[in-house]
Amino acid sequence: MSNKLGNDTDSDVSELDPKELSQALSFDKYAPQLGYAEDPETPLTAETFPSKSGGKPAWLNPETILAAEQVTCENCEQPMSLLLQLYTPEDQPAEAFHRAVYVFCCKKGGCVKQDWTRSFKVFRSQLPRENPYYPPPNESDDEEEEEEEFTPKSFKAPVQCVICGLGGAKACGKCGKTAYCSREHQMADWNMCRHKEFCNKHISEQDQEVIDKLRAARIFTEKEIVSEPEGKGEDLEEEESQAEFFKENNPDEPSSDSKALVLAGDEAEEDTKVDVDDVFLQFQLRIQLYPDQVIRYDRVEYDMPTREPLWVQQNYKPASIPACELCNGPRTFEFQILSTLLNYLGVNHIAADSLDWGSLFVYTCKQNCTLGKEVFAEEVLWKQDFSADGMQLGPKEAAMLRRKNAAKQ
Ligand SMILES: [Zn+2]
Ligand SMILES: [Zn+2]
Ligand SMILES: [Zn+2]
Ligand SMILES: [Zn+2]
Repeated sequence: MSNKLGNDTDSDVSELDPKELSQALSFDKYAPQLGYAEDPETPLTAETFPSKSGGKPAWLNPETILAAEQVTCENCEQPMSLLLQLYTPEDQPAEAFHRAVYVFCCKKGGCVKQDWTRSFKVFRSQLPRENPYYPPPNESDDEEEEEEEFTPKSFKAPVQCVICGLGGAKACGKCGKTAYCSREHQMADWNMCRHKEFCNKHISEQDQEVIDKLRAARIFTEKEIVSEPEGKGEDLEEEESQAEFFKENNPDEPSSDSKALVLAGDEAEEDTKVDVDDVFLQFQLRIQLYPDQVIRYDRVEYDMPTREPLWVQQNYKPASIPACELCNGPRTFEFQILSTLLNYLGVNHIAADSLDWGSLFVYTCKQNCTLGKEVFAEEVLWKQDFSADGMQLGPKEAAMLRRKNAAKQ
């Protein structure tokens, strides 16, 4: 189940003829899944096991959720917002039959600029197939055979902050009903989401809609993340012609393998003479094949060699990634959040002090160890910006990009 976001790849593949199928599968094995942000067609609730950016967290374990204290920005001391959650089930361990990775981020660009290591948090959560909350999916094709009664556990649902969906241990002092994770969100609701006006009053459906919109505007905009493998279908041809183009324009490149561009990460690593511009150029060439992608998902199989992310610059890579605190095993690269996601979050990312990154790289426990009694395991995030050097392409690269763009028209 690795290298796969919860998606409908299976149904796509079954429509191919056997030859296409084998091609698709062999390509699948190495191709990252690309995620795209779309308007949700149905509510992205926990029971739908969503992959999404923004909105309130859809808690995989509905009984135990994160509190603001666990997701506080250490720069401004205010709760972070859900940036993204991906539903990424695994075959093993059995405990990860359902698996979700949550990425939180401070909405203030100033905090991220000041010290980004204090303004992001990543958590992993998982549940086995048999669990108290969700019926086991019916895997048999014979629908009548296995419709076992499933009674979800009854438990006291944790109170959630009406603004951000984190645990809401505080309540409005006046009505005692509306819950908040923090004083910051209580203040925001009172002053900016009209709770001052509606506290202790009957709220009409229309007014509630307005209030919900105001509250939603305090966190990142919610989008569904849908995914498909990179280089699938007709786009593969484009990718090959791209590789061809790269080869033609780089006759000095030692590798005559058309995969040189496709496997940018690994190959670039081996070439010690590779300079900043080359890494950025490879990044750009790879991304512009599918310019709308917001996520690159590339978790390895347990026995596969570690995969390299698509770096946006040669410098500022992590020297080492800390081992998993639970099992002491290594963490490996799982997915990358591209700067294109900033376009969908409902934040101004043009202003000088706005939220910004080149890419965010999420590393998780390679063994995907069991959490035991814990509901969340903290994982690791690394951030790269576009380097000033990278943005100023060398003359050779600039000429190449110009020719490439001309050829496209
Ligand atoms: Zn902050
Ligand atoms: Zn909150
Ligand atoms: Zn109130
Ligand atoms: Zn572990």
